[in-house]
Amino acid sequence: MAPATRRPIIVVLSALVVAIIAVAVHQVPRSASPSSYTSASSPAAPTEPRRAAGRADGVVPAGVTVFDGTVPAVANLDPGLLAALRQAARAAARDGVEFHVNSGWRSRTYQNRLLREAVAKYGSEDEAARWVATAATSPHVSGEAVDLGPAAATRWLSRRGAAFGLCQIYRNEPWHYELRPGAFAQGCPRMYADPTEDPRMRP
Ligand SMILES: [Zn+2]
Repeated sequence: MAPATRRPIIVVLSALVVAIIAVAVHQVPRSASPSSYTSASSPAAPTEPRRAAGRADGVVPAGVTVFDGTVPAVANLDPGLLAALRQAARAAARDGVEFHVNSGWRSRTYQNRLLREAVAKYGSEDEAARWVATAATSPHVSGEAVDLGPAAATRWLSRRGAAFGLCQIYRNEPWHYELRPGAFAQGCPRMYADPTEDPRMRP
């Protein structure tokens, strides 16, 4: 009698142990990757505390749209930009196109992490500056820029965005959009080749 009643308990317990190990093993790479990155030496922003950036810093989970107001990357966007994005997204939906937010508002911590990653990837601060701004100059940190996808969304915006005040700013970043309210009447301003031509990027 006793072994018969004990066996199910053992089965349940060992299943629990397996589940706990599975969860623990699964979490190791996720928590290890930011710290393994942050241990890499980089000349950018050496005084910034190197904690891992998370959702509260503007890291965007997969499948987020401009309507996901609970995601900080979306919720902390400039209200005018967000309203224009939602208006445009409703019009795009009628053409069967959905806007996905790949990046929106970012904390200074997250922006500095992206900059360090870009310096490591491109090999110099000058080359990295063509793609990633500093926390002091990035329009993502001020909530005034959004990176959208997929290609169908940016194609739609390149044709129709100006009517909503939404403009591509840099020729090398077809995904990066900002609000230019005058675009409704005058069209979008001439694009910069890349962010290094943008006077806002100069400290
Ligand atoms: Zn951007």
